[in-house]
Amino acid sequence: MSNPHKFAFFEGNYVNLENAKVSIMNHSFMYGTAVFEGVRGYWNEEHGEMYLFRLREHFLRMADSMKIMHLGVKYSVDELVDIAVELVKRNEPKTDTYLRPSAYKAGQRVGPSLEDNPSDICMFTVPFGDYFHGAPGLKVQVSSWRRVEDNAIPARAKIVGAYANTALAKTDAILAGFDECIVLSENGHVSEGSAMNFFMVKNGKLITTPTSENILEGITRGSIIEFAEKEFGYKAITRQIDRSELYTADEIFFCGTGAQIAPIIEIDKREVSGGVAGPITTKIRDFYTSMCRGEKADYMDWLTPVYGKKSSGKNDNKVKAAAK
Ligand code: PMP
Repeated sequence: MSNPHKFAFFEGNYVNLENAKVSIMNHSFMYGTAVFEGVRGYWNEEHGEMYLFRLREHFLRMADSMKIMHLGVKYSVDELVDIAVELVKRNEPKTDTYLRPSAYKAGQRVGPSLEDNPSDICMFTVPFGDYFHGAPGLKVQVSSWRRVEDNAIPARAKIVGAYANTALAKTDAILAGFDECIVLSENGHVSEGSAMNFFMVKNGKLITTPTSENILEGITRGSIIEFAEKEFGYKAITRQIDRSELYTADEIFFCGTGAQIAPIIEIDKREVSGGVAGPITTKIRDFYTSMCRGEKADYMDWLTPVYGKKSSGKNDNKVKAAAK
């Protein structure tokens, strides 16, 4: 895939994307020991602005992932925010964009252990439209793969190696003719989608799966929990969900940076909400869509404007030092 965005942040510098390369001996390449984030940038043509959605929260989560994986923190969260903004600015996108920061083990040695192994940060951006192309709603299956357990590979960290689990579940769903899948925990309760969190509506109640079901604590999920109550009075219930509840739910939707708000209209060949997006899903989706584009005044502090933002300056010395 060719990427029109020319610059990446790599080894402390803004470099041409084609020069941002790691060795085949790189530890993260060999053992999946990197962690990452995915951040959406929403282009608002009228404002002439790119809004990065909850950028700081993404870096806070990345810092947690890094801690779990013994990835030394080379930059503060404020510095990472500044680097991300600067990178997007340099790439000058005027369409929706995806920002992909990773923290990775930069050591080149055989053996999986994490200690005494240098870490670094890299970032790139790429144009990014809808994750689910044009579908009015998703047809999904319950996956035969189970979600990774906290005591195997912690799902609360966005660890690259854990995405082999995602890849297996997603691929089987696609090859079987579905759009997506729902993955269960080892205990048989609903966890989440392949790379998205889960909500359902039953009898007017908004329900989502708990972190104890090995979900990634999604930033979109957290945002929905907050605005659904504030804007519409739906107080989300977080509880274990049985598989059979999937078949009797009034509405189901996925949420996530990529998926945004994605209604599910069929699950294991059983129709959900009459085969169309349900009313509560639609309300939440509509609000989310305009909020992300900077059209909800009360939520502007969730957005980082790229072109209007001045650097905090905190990053300048650090980047110079790293560039040597
Ligand atoms: N679960 C998994 C496994 C994911 O990869 C993602 C995407 N980051 C999500 C849930 C949704 O999280 P977020 O809303 O923070 O993108």
